Amino acid sequence: MHDPKKVIPVELDDRYSRQVLFPQVGREGQQKLEKARVAIVGCGATGSALALLLSRAGVGLLRIVDRDYVEPSNLQRQSLFDEHDASESVPKAVAAARQIARFNSQIAVEPHVADLIPSNIQALLGDIDLILDGTDNFETRYLVNDFAVKNSVPWIYAAAVGSYAVTLNILPGATPCLACVFPDPPRGTIETCETAGILNSAVNLVASIAATEALKFLVGARAKMRASLLSWDVWENERAEVAAGRPRENCRACGQRQFVYLAGEGRPHITLCGRNSVQIHERQRPIDFAELESRLQPHGTVRHNEFVLKFWHDPFEMTLFPDGRAIIKGTTDTAVARSLYARYIGS
Ligand SMILES: [Zn+2]
Repeated sequence: MHDPKKVIPVELDDRYSRQVLFPQVGREGQQKLEKARVAIVGCGATGSALALLLSRAGVGLLRIVDRDYVEPSNLQRQSLFDEHDASESVPKAVAAARQIARFNSQIAVEPHVADLIPSNIQALLGDIDLILDGTDNFETRYLVNDFAVKNSVPWIYAAAVGSYAVTLNILPGATPCLACVFPDPPRGTIETCETAGILNSAVNLVASIAATEALKFLVGARAKMRASLLSWDVWENERAEVAAGRPRENCRACGQRQFVYLAGEGRPHITLCGRNSVQIHERQRPIDFAELESRLQPHGTVRHNEFVLKFWHDPFEMTLFPDGRAIIKGTTDTAVARSLYARYIGS
């Protein structure tokens, strides 16, 4: 870890001078950025790039919410992480905050190692000016959308898979919300980064566009914000833009104000993470890593640091967080994951 006392003080004018020279930001805009509070939900590839751009731009507070830890397969595109983070399984939110502190110690970064769920969303997003989408799933996006529409907080949808990227600005009351545009989650086989792969350039493109829209919003240039669903395929060189229009009258969220995701309806306690793994997060139990490590030693390989405990029990790999949440790799069968958890951690 770097020692903040050793950081040479940098005059604000120097750090942000080139951005302040850009007249649409200017000194006034820069001061607005310093006071801004932005949440990034999900800190994988898109979240990393968003956090990198906005922290360097001088957004005063960045709250980074992510449930996962860094793995080697992330390093191709998740630009805030390094090999050390992957070998130590550092939670992404923590690794991101550490990395940002190395290049901008003047802003506040709050890492939260957590799954964004109805019971914690008010605490995590309640005092935020703008929410940015770094998630990889529609369930969390609909939850964010419910919260944003209900509380009139703007948010920016962003997604990338393969060479394709898509983004939409959502200003509740003024523009269509996510449920206006996509009333239901995509059906059938959904392409994910695990099945279709992902180009890091597609991620950086969508993050650059979303970060620019965020800057416009934060400096007060709302009229300049894009009013369309924008998609871009960087491999095929295809760009498409669909006018977003007005909010849909009978929209479940912004029309009827039925916030079913916020109410937690239909949300399972066990969710698949979109790869060969299952997340168990219904257990709220503080875990003593040292005690558990000695208890698990006879049953497999186990090690822990201050953030995670890893337990290898062939063919499974269990990653446990201090609050009792676990990600179990090596199965997509929730019953198998549940029974492993019950056997080794407790029921
Ligand atoms: Zn709507």
